Amino acid sequence: MSHRFLASTWARALAIVALSCAPLFAVCGLAKAEGPPGPTHLVSTPGKIVPIPASVPHEEGDMVDSRIVPDLVWIAKRYPIYVTDGYSGPLPNGEHVGCNRCHVKGSDHYNGLAVDLVPVGGGTKCDASWAPITRLAHWAEPVQNKPRAPFRWVGYEGDAGHGCGNHLHLSWNHAAAPQFQLAEWVEVFPVGPLAPPETSGEKPRKKRPAPPKPPPGPAGGISTVRTGGLAPRYQD
Ligand SMILES: [Zn+2]
Repeated sequence: MSHRFLASTWARALAIVALSCAPLFAVCGLAKAEGPPGPTHLVSTPGKIVPIPASVPHEEGDMVDSRIVPDLVWIAKRYPIYVTDGYSGPLPNGEHVGCNRCHVKGSDHYNGLAVDLVPVGGGTKCDASWAPITRLAHWAEPVQNKPRAPFRWVGYEGDAGHGCGNHLHLSWNHAAAPQFQLAEWVEVFPVGPLAPPETSGEKPRKKRPAPPKPPPGPAGGISTVRTGGLAPRYQD
């Protein structure tokens, strides 16, 4: 057996292994990163800024758009989340909710459609308490800058001011809306008994008409351009 023959045999063997592994890895990847339960859909019924329910641990006084509350409850049942900020802005009665001027211009926090999360009882050190939050981040954004629907932007590792030991930001897809106003529609994942978590959203999604595309925008916001030089306290 010549040396050349051996080399080509090896090359062929390696190529076969590589080819047969590629789909295998793809399958494994899908199995690991389970998607949201069932096909997502757009909610066009008017929302309201409401207090986050007790079933979702949160900083006192935190509020969000009512239309993402079921998704938040679903997440809180599966991950030990603690919401440090939701809606940020004024209420109709003039009262201010959420942190003041701590988010970037155009942030989804100003529409009540974003939350900042840390682990319940977790500190500012990236330790084991953050592992479930890291899993949640990967579930919502399996590939950097390609969040799963219904998430519009996920801020974690690789995003300045976010990550393990800092916080995880989740935004829901929504119609463009001015600051401090509710969006016309919000994309959510179903949480009812008809769509158990085991149900993959991939097949039914085919039948769903494509949702209107939100306009392009900066991370954490959709109507304005993010400018540089943000103070360290600023978050998405
Ligand atoms: Zn945020």
